Amino acid sequence: MSKTALIIEDETTLAEHLRSLLSSVGVECNVVHDGAVADDVTMHNSYDIILLDLQLPSVGGIELCKRIRSRDSNVPIIVLTAFSDLDSKMLAFDYGADDFISKPFHGIELLAKVTVFLKRHYRQPDEVQTVHIADLEIDYRTKNVIRGGKRISLTPKEFSLLSVLIEQPGKIFSKTELARRVWNVGFDTGTNTIEVYVSLLRNKIDKPFGVKLIHTKPGFGYCIAEKEP
Ligand code: CA
Repeated sequence: MSKTALIIEDETTLAEHLRSLLSSVGVECNVVHDGAVADDVTMHNSYDIILLDLQLPSVGGIELCKRIRSRDSNVPIIVLTAFSDLDSKMLAFDYGADDFISKPFHGIELLAKVTVFLKRHYRQPDEVQTVHIADLEIDYRTKNVIRGGKRISLTPKEFSLLSVLIEQPGKIFSKTELARRVWNVGFDTGTNTIEVYVSLLRNKIDKPFGVKLIHTKPGFGYCIAEKEP
């Protein structure tokens, strides 16, 4: 699943420069040149990261930052601004910006920041307390897993496997990725450990219930989703 960015910047040359930078690392971009349009777009779409210029026509960056943050407490917002504009920077922080980048900036610096936030954005269990998919709920504070109102008892490894899968519903996780994330092993183990754990998890999460949530994509890996991907 590719990541998406919204670029809110009225200088069209700079906006296109940002688009090509982010596209070069596989991020899909939407570009908007006007504050009011950006307000509307963010009301109806969600993004993995937002790059926000402060000096914008119709609705200014600070106000926009405040509005976006009031609707989405999670999305990383990186503010683009002139170096001298310290007051606006502080104000944007107050209204929920996560970081700044000063114009003019180096492409590498911008990409480094964006990459950090995109990774952090997906590491939800630290910030989010509960996650749902269909009638399945995980409570990260209590480590309780509930499906259809019934409590399911998982071992710590089963729990971390489920947590990784549920980070990005519909995304196929390869065995190598699961080995790295759940077992801290940086390669395909060559054993059937992962198959065994997926099957253990299925017996608890799926088997007693009508609808299957854990799916296998033969040759690719596993995912969790309401419908077969
Ligand atoms: Ca501007």
